Amino acid sequence: HPKTRDIKRMMNERLTPPVLDILKNAGNTAAELEYSAYVVGGFVRDLFLSRSTEDVDIVIEGDGIAFAREFAGRMKARVHYYKKFGTAVITFADGSKIDVASARLEYYQFPAALPTVEMSSIKLDLFRRDFTINTLAVCLNPDKFGLLVDFFSAQRDIKEKTIRVLHSLSFVEDPTRIFRAVRFEQRFGFTIGKMTEGLIKNAVKMEFFRRLSGHRVFGELRQILEEDDPVPAIERLAEFNLLVSLHEALKIDKKTVAALHATREVVSWYDLLFVDKPYMKWMVYLMVLMRGMAQQTTEDLCDRLELPPRHREMADAGRREADTFLHWIQRNPGIKNSELYQRLFGFRVEQMLYVMSVTDSDTVKKHISRYILTLQHVAPLIKGKDLNEIGIAPGPLYSEILRKILYARLDEKVRTREDELEFAMRYANDPDGWWKRR
Ligand code: ATP
Repeated sequence: HPKTRDIKRMMNERLTPPVLDILKNAGNTAAELEYSAYVVGGFVRDLFLSRSTEDVDIVIEGDGIAFAREFAGRMKARVHYYKKFGTAVITFADGSKIDVASARLEYYQFPAALPTVEMSSIKLDLFRRDFTINTLAVCLNPDKFGLLVDFFSAQRDIKEKTIRVLHSLSFVEDPTRIFRAVRFEQRFGFTIGKMTEGLIKNAVKMEFFRRLSGHRVFGELRQILEEDDPVPAIERLAEFNLLVSLHEALKIDKKTVAALHATREVVSWYDLLFVDKPYMKWMVYLMVLMRGMAQQTTEDLCDRLELPPRHREMADAGRREADTFLHWIQRNPGIKNSELYQRLFGFRVEQMLYVMSVTDSDTVKKHISRYILTLQHVAPLIKGKDLNEIGIAPGPLYSEILRKILYARLDEKVRTREDELEFAMRYANDPDGWWKRR
């Protein structure tokens, strides 16, 4: 029998009214359809840890798709079905999402060595999960709203700050869980339990990873590299020999660790300045991990991870381009803004953050941050229309003039509109003259 406990009070204290409202409505809808609804997994774990979560995962004992259709209709939300899996994603007007799954007996396969036991369908759903800390469920039906169901001692493990698998074949079933164990351990400051650690070591020794698709490995690695501070998790992966088991070139030495710490600082700096600007944080770390790899090795690793072409391009050619830039700027620390601009124009932010992460030179860092913060936004005050008005004949010369004005502005040689117009006149009269060479 599972441990149960009323956690209504905890929910009222820790969840926001809109989230509580959604949960109550979900429970009402389920009850009307004669189903049971549970909020499960990371959501409940994070509730216990007092951490905020965005994802709401609901498991329906019954037809999850029928529930999702009805619930989305009531909440005026959009819904997507995955018939084959009996799952649905509900998206609300504000962009927040709820995942819905169906718990039905016929869907589950037991690992061969385990005896078949009768379980309620919610218990079966939870039994398939990765770690005990992710197996808590809270009933949402009105008559049991807030009733916590703990089948696998999740509360104890959360209290003891321990990551434990549910059974000894867990990593045989799905070796990507090893990456997840490390990610949760480091994110929450927990420790992987002794038995579980033994199972990880065994899985690495037996090379369970060989048969895993690159796509799945990469998915988990990427999630680690997107963590707030991925460095301890990367060190832990290295400790388990997990990285070299993916590719022998992924050896982590002191220098790499130092560069990764520097990456964290650079990335935090950027995130603070540009809160909502999306970029591939994981890519910056990946490029740092790949630093100095020969082209063939890089290609092998990209093959292993099954990186899609555009990501591959950045990890390979994009990284080399960034290295070339670094090499050049280290030799030319006193460059003009216009030169810096021309060199960095077209660089992706990931490439620039990579350079900032791997260089020891404060001058280089300052150059790049100046480009990111100001130079890349500089534009001439005048437009083609203005050139027309001062009598310059339209043609390819326009873009040349405007480009030269941009460079003059970057180097602070023009300030006002009048400066720019005068520059344009002189340039148009004598494109080969000293203005151009200045
Ligand atoms: P995060 O905060 O990173 O989103 P999460 O716990 O919500 O963490 P997800 O990756 O979103 O993790 O997965 C949702 C739930 O699905 C988890 O709580 C976990 O129990 C389950 N899960 C995910 N991946 C696996 C897996 N490989 N094996 C078993 N269960 C998994």
